[in-house]
Amino acid sequence: MRGAVLYGPRDVRLKERQAPKITEPTDAIIRLPATCICGSDLWDYRGIDPVDQPTPMGHEYCGIVEEVGHAVTTIKRGQFVIGSFFASDNTCPNCQAGYQTSCLRRKLVGGAQAGRLRVPLADGTLVATPDLPPDDLIPSLLALSDVMGTAWFAAEAANVKPGMTVAVAGDGAVGLLGVLSARQMGAERIIAMSRHEPRQKLACEFGATDIVTLRGDRGVARIKKLTNGIGADAVLECVGTQEAMMQAIRSARPGASVGFVGVPHGVELDGQELFFSHVRLHGGPAPVRRFLPELIDLVWTRKIDPGRVFDLTLPLDEVAEGYRAMDERRAIKTLLRP
Ligand SMILES: [Zn+2]
Repeated sequence: MRGAVLYGPRDVRLKERQAPKITEPTDAIIRLPATCICGSDLWDYRGIDPVDQPTPMGHEYCGIVEEVGHAVTTIKRGQFVIGSFFASDNTCPNCQAGYQTSCLRRKLVGGAQAGRLRVPLADGTLVATPDLPPDDLIPSLLALSDVMGTAWFAAEAANVKPGMTVAVAGDGAVGLLGVLSARQMGAERIIAMSRHEPRQKLACEFGATDIVTLRGDRGVARIKKLTNGIGADAVLECVGTQEAMMQAIRSARPGASVGFVGVPHGVELDGQELFFSHVRLHGGPAPVRRFLPELIDLVWTRKIDPGRVFDLTLPLDEVAEGYRAMDERRAIKTLLRP
């Protein structure tokens, strides 16, 4: 089996790898009709999070179950399933509270940029679709595995409610789907922050009503101006930089919530500023598993189409070009066909 392996900064190659096998009785092996590259893969790719050994890449997946371990009871061979980047038992106290990414038995799923994948804790992790999906739904179902589930969590953590004015920091795939999530949750006005025209266009198609092209404090000033000087009712932070985090907090009105899902890199918060902001913060690695049943239903009934963030589709053979295109911001998100 061939799969994407990162060797060092900007050096990703398709290599022959051992096909995954059942190693625990709770595992499943799935065959992947499509996989993709995550914005967070770029932290490794760019050497910001250095890899110290050749690392199989990819953590977003959906596909057909080929084999299950003898302790797997609910997931069956032949089902089409979706799971999250953290495997979870879905039974421990943290899972029961809806935070499956803090599962007491959580296991990172890696190596999904390949034709096949081993998923631990299959019964707790995987959710099956009602039937085998038509091919045109596969990109949107794949998006639920991380990017859409993460965006949905950002909106949920920001407590988006019908009628609200919502601001979204970040025009990557998560930010764009944050716009879609806020729209789906009934936001009336959605302010997307983006300086890239194709992304602004997609944001508007997903439901953005206003675009702010300014960054930092000038971007904050513009959002204040758009909200009668008060700030947004809910803010989604979908980047993970100091600038985006401060932009999010400072764009929020007193009493608003900020949902932050960008993996923080060098973010530090000032206690005094936080104290006087009157802003609620909630975020972290999205508990995608909690949202999968609802999101699968929304995709299955064609109420949402998060797969539209894939603006580049390549055969898995061309994975290196897929990373380059995202690194150079030529592509929002790359879908790979094994
Ligand atoms: Zn758990």
